[in-house]
Amino acid sequence: MQRLFNFSAGPAMLPAEVLSRAGDEMLDWHGSGMGVMEMSHRGKEFMAIAADAEADLRELLAIPKQYEVLFLQGGATLQFAQVPMNLLRGRRAADYVVTGEWSKKAVKEAKNYCEVRVAASSEDRAFSYAPRDWQLSADAAYVHYCSNETIGGVEFHWIPETGAAPLVADASSHFLSRPLDVSKFGLIYAGAQKNAGPAGLTIVLVREDLLGGAAKGTPSVLDYKLQADADSMLNTPATYAIYVAGLVFKWLRQLGGLAEIERRNVAKAQVLYDAIDAGFYASPVDKADRSRMNVPFRLPDERLDAPFLKGAEERGMVQLKGHRSVGGMRASIYNAMPLEGCARLAGYMREFAARHG
Ligand SMILES: *Cc1c(COP(=O)(O)O)cnc(C)c1O
Repeated sequence: MQRLFNFSAGPAMLPAEVLSRAGDEMLDWHGSGMGVMEMSHRGKEFMAIAADAEADLRELLAIPKQYEVLFLQGGATLQFAQVPMNLLRGRRAADYVVTGEWSKKAVKEAKNYCEVRVAASSEDRAFSYAPRDWQLSADAAYVHYCSNETIGGVEFHWIPETGAAPLVADASSHFLSRPLDVSKFGLIYAGAQKNAGPAGLTIVLVREDLLGGAAKGTPSVLDYKLQADADSMLNTPATYAIYVAGLVFKWLRQLGGLAEIERRNVAKAQVLYDAIDAGFYASPVDKADRSRMNVPFRLPDERLDAPFLKGAEERGMVQLKGHRSVGGMRASIYNAMPLEGCARLAGYMREFAARHG
């Protein structure tokens, strides 16, 4: 068996240990005589799996007890609508920070529910940085931003202050890549397929006092309060995805938690940014705001893109083509990408530059 270094932005690599454990348990989970996919979500086996996943996630992020952990479906994209449905609580407007493709999509969706005020934007320089100055409005129901723009490769390396207005983060593509002070947020959401597990699961952390004010007409499954009261099992949850995410949480705890994975992620990103900054390649993002998870870069001539990708593939590295909306290259290096993968890519980048520079 040969495993490639897969630089996909998501669904993305999962830790080999997690996949092989899921494989071992496929037909018979812990002597139950059933695979996890076959279990009733109301049975004691799956209830234990879900409770364990939540406990491990709480431990990893030191989630304060006044926060609910929800295991939902519909992806981060559904959160673009579900957040205003639940958090407007009778208010008319919300503040949004626009830093790239994903925050633009969040704005577009929110406009169906409220007046969107753009508190800050980096569109003036093609979404190449994380804006520092936010103009918050006094009566905003919440402030929404994307803490890591997966396509543009812009990451907020600090948590913005928003005063009384709850801060809402789309953290999909750097969730669990570093420690995070959850208490600074009203709500954090993340589609699991970037860094936490398989597609089909969306993780939402929400402060209790924000629950219970869903707009009239909100479907029950989309009401955070009803889901919280039902332990995310108002209807059948994404059972297998929750199980695999739970294995990922255990893997993270075993390797030393989020401080340790952050240390590894910093080292991995450094290897690639050093290769970019050595010349030939260009990074479109301000140095201070470069993402540790999604590393976009360009070659000096677009005609070199195809040969670059072909050579990468020959060396066991796939999914390096940048998002169709921006072009160029992008290496997504989530938690499960080992340092060895980044080192192989950096080595190939230097070799390619020497040949074509
Ligand atoms: C991938 C991604 C999304 C969309 O996720 P879906 O699960 O496809 O809905 C939204 N926001 C960010 C930051 C992402 O990386």
